[in-house]
Amino acid sequence: MSDPDLSDRRWLHDALARLEADRNRTGETHLLRFPLPRAWGVDLYLKDESVYPTGSLKHRLARSLMVYGLINGWIREGTTVVEASSGSTAVSEAYFAQLLGLPFVAVVPRGTSPTKLALIESYGGRCHMVEDASSVYAEAARLAGELGGHYLDQFTHAAAASEACEAPSVAEVIFGQMSLERFPVPRWIVVGMGTGGTSATIGRYVRRHRQPSSVLAVDPEGSAYYEAWCTGDVTVTTTGSRIEGIGRPRVEPSFTPGVVDRMLRVPDGASVAAMQCLKSVTGNAAGPSTGTNLWGAFHLISEMVRAGERGSVVTLICDRGDRYSESFYDDAWLAKQGIDPTPYSRAIDAFLAGAAPLGSLTDEPAAAVDR
Ligand SMILES: *Cc1c(COP(=O)(O)O)cnc(C)c1O
Repeated sequence: MSDPDLSDRRWLHDALARLEADRNRTGETHLLRFPLPRAWGVDLYLKDESVYPTGSLKHRLARSLMVYGLINGWIREGTTVVEASSGSTAVSEAYFAQLLGLPFVAVVPRGTSPTKLALIESYGGRCHMVEDASSVYAEAARLAGELGGHYLDQFTHAAAASEACEAPSVAEVIFGQMSLERFPVPRWIVVGMGTGGTSATIGRYVRRHRQPSSVLAVDPEGSAYYEAWCTGDVTVTTTGSRIEGIGRPRVEPSFTPGVVDRMLRVPDGASVAAMQCLKSVTGNAAGPSTGTNLWGAFHLISEMVRAGERGSVVTLICDRGDRYSESFYDDAWLAKQGIDPTPYSRAIDAFLAGAAPLGSLTDEPAAAVDR
């Protein structure tokens, strides 16, 4: 093959075929049921994204970002791919870069836990340390430029890449998996927001397909999204969240406030209490952002039961708990962080015993604003 364009195209086709094959192998993740008294007339479902080979919903996103980079001509044979992430996104991207035989560099703040660095490195990724956590984005862009590489940039491209490159989308799959249930069209879908990509995909889908489902976005302490959504001010900055994967110190470009019907601020203690509840009720050990989702779902279900409303609520299991054995699953660590799940655990017990409200423990905007 002497024509350079043709050999480029051959590599591209092979790369896309490998990504498609990964999708074909990993199939669709399960939609589990969370047991609630049938007489309540409300069913709760959990889309278990933690079963992906790289352990989180970022498997889906990383694959879309790779496809997006390939079909836009940004990623070619030998291109170094770069990301600003020390979390689940970098782990999943390292996995896909390895699958395509591409070098991968994660730009991470110094102080990132060795366990996380080891996970990225286990997929052949390299970790590039920066001193100042807020400079990871600029450094990732700079490094990609210097290496002639491609900055995947999850916070800019998450929503667009998922939309363009994932068919069927997570939203379409949820509706398909719900189709034989007692209330097949969810009344509510509950999502947390990191990039905001998942909420955008689901929110757009329900509108585009004229579904009556509403989207509740749950936001942890310290995140900018809640305030931005309440006030309409997207320039707001905050300290950032402790719940890994969700809650951002600034409003990210892929955040799409118009698709969020309602928002709830969830205290970290509540996220942890719900995460612990999931483990004790179902045996599923998930990460804390799953707890945030579950708290939001319980909140809605309590309202529905008390209003005599029947229907289904769907949320996601975002990642596996084993990554948090030395943090969110360690009582001493929680105490050191000042996170106390006790009052929230009590509220959940009362809720599960008789749909008692969780409301007074959670903030919600008093009135809608013009967004
Ligand atoms: C990324 C992430 C989320 C949020 O998903 P987005 O689509 O980025 O908004 C939730 N939980 C975990 C563990 C994540 O890594």
